[in-house]
Amino acid sequence: MFKKLIDYSNKIFDLFSAVALIADRRIKPQIPTVKIITAIIIMYFTNQGSLHSLSQEIAYKKLKGFLPSISTIARAADSMDLDGIREVGLGIYKKARAAKMLSACHGMWVGVVDGHEQATSAYCKCGYCKERTVTGKDGVKDIQYYHQFVAFILAGPRVSFILDVEPILPGEGELTSAYRLIERVLANYPKAFSIVIGDGLYLRETIFNLLKAHHKYAIAVLKEERRQLSQEANRLSLLSEPESYRKGRTYYRVWDHSISGCWDGYGKDVRVIVSEEATPVRVHSKDGGTFEDILNRANWMWVTNLPRSEDPGGLKNTVSACHSRWQIENGCFNETVNIWNADHIYRHSKNAIIAFLLLLFICVNIFNIFRIRNIKDRSIKTKVYLIKLIGIGFHTDDVHLSMVPAIPP
Ligand SMILES: [Zn+2]
Repeated sequence: MFKKLIDYSNKIFDLFSAVALIADRRIKPQIPTVKIITAIIIMYFTNQGSLHSLSQEIAYKKLKGFLPSISTIARAADSMDLDGIREVGLGIYKKARAAKMLSACHGMWVGVVDGHEQATSAYCKCGYCKERTVTGKDGVKDIQYYHQFVAFILAGPRVSFILDVEPILPGEGELTSAYRLIERVLANYPKAFSIVIGDGLYLRETIFNLLKAHHKYAIAVLKEERRQLSQEANRLSLLSEPESYRKGRTYYRVWDHSISGCWDGYGKDVRVIVSEEATPVRVHSKDGGTFEDILNRANWMWVTNLPRSEDPGGLKNTVSACHSRWQIENGCFNETVNIWNADHIYRHSKNAIIAFLLLLFICVNIFNIFRIRNIKDRSIKTKVYLIKLIGIGFHTDDVHLSMVPAIPP
């Protein structure tokens, strides 16, 4: 399965020719960057989880002559060209989109943006660590160091395609970093999406105006703290009948209000969509012996400047699109952390952390497309199982790395 994935990456996405163009700024490098990147890609595809287990596998496979040592990989990552890696990611997106491997989300192309915190530690620190004081159970205060980044994904029915990430630097908040990220994504992926969704933090005129300047619409979660807007929406909901429907097992009551003059900074009319959702579920009763039926209730509000006419599927569809925001939590953060060990710090430096993340997301994007397009064997049901087969393939098969171009340093 390892060979199948490598062949697919090369045949469909030209992966190893593309990564051969990435450079780093080591002085007098003995080993070309492409070999270092190949080692990292193999580490991710075979889900080694750390440079140390990669090194073990390299020794076992007698690939030492071909793949670099972990200290060389780590050093090169410190100065690897991030824009060069982003260029490879963009190339893969273009090929995937042209070949219709990606699909619209509820009939619209939807981007999702959100921040994530990575691997905290009590002892390891670089110049770009964020820090905070935490109080343990025994009352002892400790300094905790951590890194954060913002990610931008393209939501989809089967694949959440990760487009780019940007670090949140010490002294700045998520929005500052997100603004840089959105600007870059707008420049690199101008036609990839028409709507961008974020949580309550993204209900800012700066974000809405930036997107509007590029003819994109914005959707942000509305929280109670935004008093004027939320109170006005609640007031209007009392005065009008909702649209009621059922989708799957969930019952919806949805209102769609046009509101003006309640968001001072933005100054334009917006829609506030209110959704009351109830899903019947069966849970174990408290005594453990029987089951009981309960209703899981959730109330959502979103603010958007998306015109009703832009959604081909009407209000019901817009609510589904608003909910696709969860894809960045599940499809991006949870999955890459739980399955792919994304929170692991492979090398603790500002540049290396982002280089490793960008390369990971390139591998995850290819893997996800490979899985839905190329795995016909019905016995392979889960991602975890497929990853296991790829790892076993690398361990047991006769692996030649002839696909990697031998470019001199
Ligand atoms: Zn750090």
